[in-house]
Amino acid sequence: MAILRVAQMGHPVLRMIADPIDPAAIRSKAFQTFCDDLIETMIEVDGVGLAAPQVHEPIRVVAAEVVEDEDPVILINPVITVLGPGTRRTWEGCLSVEGMRGLVERPDHIRLQALLRTGKELDVELHGFRAVVVQHECDHLDGVLYVDRIVPKTLMFLREWRRWKDELDDQADVDDEGESE
Ligand code: ZN
Repeated sequence: MAILRVAQMGHPVLRMIADPIDPAAIRSKAFQTFCDDLIETMIEVDGVGLAAPQVHEPIRVVAAEVVEDEDPVILINPVITVLGPGTRRTWEGCLSVEGMRGLVERPDHIRLQALLRTGKELDVELHGFRAVVVQHECDHLDGVLYVDRIVPKTLMFLREWRRWKDELDDQADVDDEGESE
């Protein structure tokens, strides 16, 4: 296994529309090794999610903790459907936008459909922070970064965010303390 390099905002790979994976290729050794590397890299950099374009591979693959306190899973060709009108505001960060945080408002209740690395189909409903993480990661597959969705005037340096966040949370109607990657 290997720790992969994480692309930083400005690298064109982060703005590409990623290619779908042919399900017949899922069981190949090369793909399975990539899945191992993606998860290992996510853990090494202390992320809760990591999308393949962030490690310079423009393919529709994401590693994420879909269920709290369970091992991260690989999501292949994920599709998100918004299930309700509710939204939540979360302070988000991104391994590809180092040292920044910003407030993002996203749907709170989604359906996630994807293939797993075993080839099996996943079809689950997610609420709250897990729904936010999956939406953030799937945005990467369409070349979208959280800074494109930010609540105006909330982008800040991590150091200042840590210093001021309690005050900001009171003003900004924040639902979640979590950070996605
Ligand atoms: Zn990200």
